Amino acid sequence: MKRSRKVKILATLGPASSDEEIIVRLHEAGADAFRINMSHTDHPTMRELVARIRSVETQVSRPIGILADLQGPKLRVGTFADKSATLSIGQEFTLDDNPAPGDATRVHLPHPEILQAVQPGHRLLIDDGRLQLAALKTDGRSIVARVIAGNKISDRKGVSLPDTELPLGALTEKDRRDLDAVLQTGVDWIALSFIQRPQDLAEVRKIARGRAALMAKIEKPQAVKRLPEIIELSDGLMVARGDLGVEMPLEAVPGIQKQITRACRRAGKPVVVATQMLESMITAPVPTRAEVSDVATAVFEGADAVMLSAESAAGQYPVEAVAMMNAIAIQVERDPVFNDVINAQRTEPEATGADAISLASREIAETLKLAAIITYTASGTTGLRAARERPKVPIIALSPVVETTRRLSLVWGTHCVVSEDATDLDDMVDRACRIAYEEQFAKPGDRVIITAGVPLRTPGVTNMLRIAYIGSDGLSGL
Ligand code: PGA
Ligand code: MN
Repeated sequence: MKRSRKVKILATLGPASSDEEIIVRLHEAGADAFRINMSHTDHPTMRELVARIRSVETQVSRPIGILADLQGPKLRVGTFADKSATLSIGQEFTLDDNPAPGDATRVHLPHPEILQAVQPGHRLLIDDGRLQLAALKTDGRSIVARVIAGNKISDRKGVSLPDTELPLGALTEKDRRDLDAVLQTGVDWIALSFIQRPQDLAEVRKIARGRAALMAKIEKPQAVKRLPEIIELSDGLMVARGDLGVEMPLEAVPGIQKQITRACRRAGKPVVVATQMLESMITAPVPTRAEVSDVATAVFEGADAVMLSAESAAGQYPVEAVAMMNAIAIQVERDPVFNDVINAQRTEPEATGADAISLASREIAETLKLAAIITYTASGTTGLRAARERPKVPIIALSPVVETTRRLSLVWGTHCVVSEDATDLDDMVDRACRIAYEEQFAKPGDRVIITAGVPLRTPGVTNMLRIAYIGSDGLSGL
């Protein structure tokens, strides 16, 4: 199956989309990769979902990426004697280390290290910011705070601390168990929530040992501040606008989205724009105009992928939501101004063979109106550098490593095919032409460009660029 767009679609699976039949329909409607949210998925269900996606992959003969999203250090208050309490603006309210049920004066905060880290003046945002407190006094075991906005608090609501550097690593005990389980199951990407520091990624990389690619979710101001170092240590980023919009002023989120997208494009690392993209489609068959415009903005920015959360995981219209995203992406990419907008953000190549060849092959492909850029990529690096150029023509990434093709399912403009290593140069050209023909990217008489590192499988070497004709039999002709 050939997509008619460059941007990829990542759809979250959940109760509304767990059966194999619906996973097939989501893929047909446009989902290139699936996300499993470990905040809401137990291990047997996760394994079941992975098995179903792999079965769909075989059925549709296309590599499909799987991203397991770890919950991360999400903080929550304890419980209340009456399940909830009503507070008034201006009153004092205490969070402490006493596990007794709470009331309108206090509640348990079952995170001793947080009780110690919060300083007077820091904000505490509860229930996605619906209740806002400001710390007045702290003594290491309790925080006395004033209610600034909102009035309702209830059992186990989430707490965000935008002003406090939390003395927490990226992984809780639950995350450690989840990480082991998803690595054993063989997912392609692991997303890390609420990372604050580059070390958080280094810690997980040590455990993952290359078995999965790592995606840093940017949802805390601390991570926004250290973006360049975090990009350096990640394989991809997610603009996690849900929590980002709680921890930062909402009006700052669109600018941060642009900043992150541009930085990732410069670095040549995939970036996913996530959360509330078609939120109203959880309960309605059509989105709002503002949501359509939001998806379009991410596509115009050249994001690698756009994501659906509850829309596909728990909504009433999962397939329609994917189909809508697909339609928006196709239309935007056909828009006469699309290429101008994309080109305006193109960055200079780095001084490497891979970048020089990626730049040259884009220019040659566009000048000669070639049908495709075909790149041999074992590790995926050459594919990533080709995508970084954001060429007008499709990129066909050939890899003998199935895991590489799955990881690239989140990367802009790449159509991945598993293909054994070529035996020699002639075989390399024939093979590339045949695949471009079979996958319906090129017809006899068309020309394509082929890039590779010769000898194949030598990491970091991209040194070959060749223009070839598709012959009448689909092989290379003269
Ligand atoms: P979540 O992450 O859905 O796991 O919270 C995405 C976000 O915060 O936007
Ligand atoms: Mn989040």
